[in-house]
Amino acid sequence: MKHLFLTAMLATLPFAASQAADDFKYTDEQFADIQMLRYQVPGFDQLSLRQKTLVYYLQEAALSGRDILFDQNGRYNLRIRHAFEKIYTDYRGDRKDKEFLAFEVYLKRLWFSSGIHHHYGCEKFHADFSEVWLRNALKSVGATLDEEIFPVIFDDSIMQMRTNQRDGDDLVLTSASNYYAPGITQAEAEEFYTQRKPLADPRPVMMGLNSRLVRNEWGLIDEQVYRVGGLYDAALSRVVYWLEKALPFADTPQQKRVIGKLIEYYRTGDLRTFDAFNILWLKDTASTVDFVNGFTESYGDPLGMKASWESIVNFKDLAATARTEKLSANAQWFEDNSPVDARFKKAECKGISAKVITAAILSGDLYPSPAIGINLPNSDWVRRDFGSKSVTIGNLTSAYAKAAAGSGMGKEFTIDDATLALVRQYGDLTDDLHTDLHECLGHGSGKLLPGTDPDTLKAYGSTIEEARADLFGLYYVADPKLCELGLTPNMEAYKAQFYSYMQNGLITQLVRIKPGNNIEEAHMRNRSLIAHWVLARANGEKVQGAKGTVAGKTPAVELIKRKGKTYVRVNDYAALRTYFGELLAEIQRIKSEGDYAAARALVETYAVKVDPALHKEVLARYEKLNLSPYKGFINPRYEATFAADGTVTDVRLTYGEGYAEQMLRYSRDYGFLPAVNE
Ligand code: ZN
Repeated sequence: MKHLFLTAMLATLPFAASQAADDFKYTDEQFADIQMLRYQVPGFDQLSLRQKTLVYYLQEAALSGRDILFDQNGRYNLRIRHAFEKIYTDYRGDRKDKEFLAFEVYLKRLWFSSGIHHHYGCEKFHADFSEVWLRNALKSVGATLDEEIFPVIFDDSIMQMRTNQRDGDDLVLTSASNYYAPGITQAEAEEFYTQRKPLADPRPVMMGLNSRLVRNEWGLIDEQVYRVGGLYDAALSRVVYWLEKALPFADTPQQKRVIGKLIEYYRTGDLRTFDAFNILWLKDTASTVDFVNGFTESYGDPLGMKASWESIVNFKDLAATARTEKLSANAQWFEDNSPVDARFKKAECKGISAKVITAAILSGDLYPSPAIGINLPNSDWVRRDFGSKSVTIGNLTSAYAKAAAGSGMGKEFTIDDATLALVRQYGDLTDDLHTDLHECLGHGSGKLLPGTDPDTLKAYGSTIEEARADLFGLYYVADPKLCELGLTPNMEAYKAQFYSYMQNGLITQLVRIKPGNNIEEAHMRNRSLIAHWVLARANGEKVQGAKGTVAGKTPAVELIKRKGKTYVRVNDYAALRTYFGELLAEIQRIKSEGDYAAARALVETYAVKVDPALHKEVLARYEKLNLSPYKGFINPRYEATFAADGTVTDVRLTYGEGYAEQMLRYSRDYGFLPAVNE
């Protein structure tokens, strides 16, 4: 049934789902170092009413936990948010005044970070409005703040860092996050958990994950557990309320057990139950609608134990899934026809079907600045014994790409209008395809020669491996086979991917490197390696792994300078494909034979170094574009209509809500926690 459904879906899809409907506005307001974006939820209308109902209840459960993260990020955050929202809505003074405007930016940053510290850097915001102004504003709207909170806002030396990781400090005492009550030291916290660590437990729970440490009335350290009836009861009770509503609409019987187990965990706070929930959750791969809802990642705790609350509701991206299933089904053809030496090919090759999901709502620590992939659960032994669920979030990736397309980057760094038009027409489509080829086939292709130790390439291993998968994708994105499979519309589209790839590897990815630094990250190194090797090859240099040189011809690709600006120019796309194939063959040889010296030579020659003059030029051009370094998403809004007996008859999805409007609505409709939770 499911397979038929997919096939039927596919017949109605245009070449790129992302090409459809695109007067959508992906970018919204900018403030401080933030650019607000929006994402679409394609495919929601194709869900059944039962599934829409499920999404509706799960997104209510997601939003109901919102206050928890504010309190976890700092014990004053909810109090400050309440008072500031009152000023924001009721203030009758001059709203164009520079104090008010500075206050408004502060409040938006507070919303964005779920607290008064930067969401990424963790440093406390500096208030650019005065204490006198704030006191007057509070008085004018009839709001109050405890006296102890004024220095928290205005004295930059107090609660400096949300999560302090500086070696040598007492990390617990010096972190403003609220996982430990004031006055508890790092040594006390560590001792508390060391004492409770069971000896030689092969399946240990993630101790301390869902609790706050406090000092009890006898001066002893104790845990306040996040659960119904415990800490954050008011919010967690609402989360459970909506999970119970969702239960009858679950996609599969397995999912019913998943939701049921999560409810049990929220009621008991028992971490063994949490492990059981995770095992059920990771095994549920059949459900179309899925979700994360819970205390999940521990980056916010300086000791890395206690987890912040987050939620995402999503459903399978049917178009992308159909695409990856096609590739997987043809895995052996791709393996047999790749340009690598026959000795390094797999006789029997199975592709994997990459799972792409569409996010429907983001909340807690996934809002507004989410990861674009999910790989959970985090428990080591659960992963070891039961595996994990790994997905990429297609509509968020696409929204980032669409927003970037409107950022001026393309215009600034692309050589001419014709190339820019090519990239705009086919860039998203071939980007998705390249990713699919990389994930579904590239990493799984090829084999090691008997006796080759998989760890031989050591520190160069991940760059070589990423280059191998990328080259597999580059080589095949230009193959007529993709046309035949209906995955590309013509033999022009691939050129968009080739141009963007070379442009990124040679020029634009440099904007992410600080002046004076080398390239360190494996994916960036791999792109640099491929682009620089191909550039050298095309320009007649003798390069490692290729026979002879191609001197004397017009180079297939070159860097040219116009009015002091450097651009990539591609003169011969077909030749470029040949070079990608040659490098793929060499990289596969290095991997299959475990040739450390060759891996090192390739990476050190082409992947690591940055040309300082070009780097300087690129950074200056980038700065002029005035782009915000951090981005986050405004959620869409779901509204249900109900029959007289309370059953959902329809769920409507809208996008138009402004950021402040959304934040104020969330505070009004989902502000379940009291201002003080201790
Ligand atoms: Zn990869």
